[in-house]
Amino acid sequence: MNFQPDEEQELTRRTVRDFALKEIAPRSAELDETQHFPRDIMKRLGEMGMLGVVFPAEYGGAALAYGDYVLIIEELARVDASIGLSVAAHNSLCSNHIYLAGSEDQKKRFLVPLARGEKIGAWSLTEPTAGSDASGTKSTAVKDGEHWILNGSKTFATHGSVCDVAVVFAVSDRSKGKHGISAFILEPGMKGFRPGRKENKMGCRASDTAELVMEECRVPDAHRLGAEGEGFIDALRVLDGGRIGIGALAVGIARGALDQALSYAQNRHQLGQAIANFQAVQCMLADSAVEIDAARLLVQRAAWLKDRGGEVGMASAMAKLYASETAVRVSNRALQIHGGYGYIKDYPIERIYRDAKITTIGEGTSEIQRLVISRRLLDAMPDRPRD
Ligand SMILES: Cc1cc2nc3c(=O)[nH]c(=O)nc-3n(C[C@H](O)[C@H](O)[C@H](O)COP(=O)(O)OP(=O)(O)OC[C@H]3O[C@@H](n4cnc5c(N)ncnc54)[C@H](O)[C@@H]3O)c2cc1C
Repeated sequence: MNFQPDEEQELTRRTVRDFALKEIAPRSAELDETQHFPRDIMKRLGEMGMLGVVFPAEYGGAALAYGDYVLIIEELARVDASIGLSVAAHNSLCSNHIYLAGSEDQKKRFLVPLARGEKIGAWSLTEPTAGSDASGTKSTAVKDGEHWILNGSKTFATHGSVCDVAVVFAVSDRSKGKHGISAFILEPGMKGFRPGRKENKMGCRASDTAELVMEECRVPDAHRLGAEGEGFIDALRVLDGGRIGIGALAVGIARGALDQALSYAQNRHQLGQAIANFQAVQCMLADSAVEIDAARLLVQRAAWLKDRGGEVGMASAMAKLYASETAVRVSNRALQIHGGYGYIKDYPIERIYRDAKITTIGEGTSEIQRLVISRRLLDAMPDRPRD
């Protein structure tokens, strides 16, 4: 076991951190306030290889490992969770689905510009009535010669109103249940496809979230992604990897919160001394540091497994569950350490506290992660009665 990032990883980490501190941090408060999605920052990150981190160079990627990917997401989220979320969704969801299930033509046409950051990707599984139970998808895809006619609406799509490429899911054969949902690649400008309402969110407000609407949308069969009817099954594989990214996002947010708490505790004086001298405050700092390290190790183990081609469903669910709940606890403590000043917008902790919450919801709630973990535990018991 080696817990030390190698020289190249350290260089990547430092490059991302410097960029985040110089180019993102000064704008974070304003981007949050205005809910503005900063395409210029995404473009710069694309030029740095951060929008195609794990994809091979032939598909425009940086050909790095998941071990590098989690460091990158962590360092971005440590400074700005919105950017961390957008980069994670772009890499792990839309682009990764095309990488895993796309034809060679689809990879050349769609993945290359996504990985280079020339295009922004959305991946839209969730529907108004199909969230945790995404297999309850209502949108439909009906074959019409060499085309499909898509109808329905998707909700909560990260980059829904700013995307250049969107992977969406629709039922192509209801009689086949989970094996009857297909994935399609849509592009703005396709007749019958449009973004719907942009959400006014509590946190991660600079990361665009919107509905996607399909009304008699005519999609060439060449835009069907993966095998017919297997889109949902592919989505589960995509989410197994994606949750590692959300785990890293959560670790980054928690580290950012602890950075703020450490700095505030040393500068704020009460009873003639820095509040960092009070043991109650020290305990909050210590608990946070321990939990962040534990979360980080879970995330890095999941990334390590992924890099070795191992089964990551259990490890990524554990990492996402623990890291996301850590981010919520740590940002809560960090805000508490700020007292009343944590409750007003002059200090970044107010934003970090709001941003942290998405990590326990997106890409499967904490409850769903617990289901994923417990099902695997029970399935591993040979004598358990099966239905
Ligand atoms: C900012 C943001 C960005 C997002 N980005 C994307 C995206 O890019 N693409 C995409 O497809 N989706 C995206 N989502 C959707 C997200 O994945 C869903 O919100 C999430 O999966 C939960 O679904 P839901 O909101 O419908 O909640 P519900 O499924 O209605 O859950 C409500 C509550 O019931 C609990 N619950 C539900 N089922 C069970 C069960 N079987 N056992 C125990 N408890 C259960 C949940 O844990 C939760 O506490 C995003 C959401 C947000 C807020």
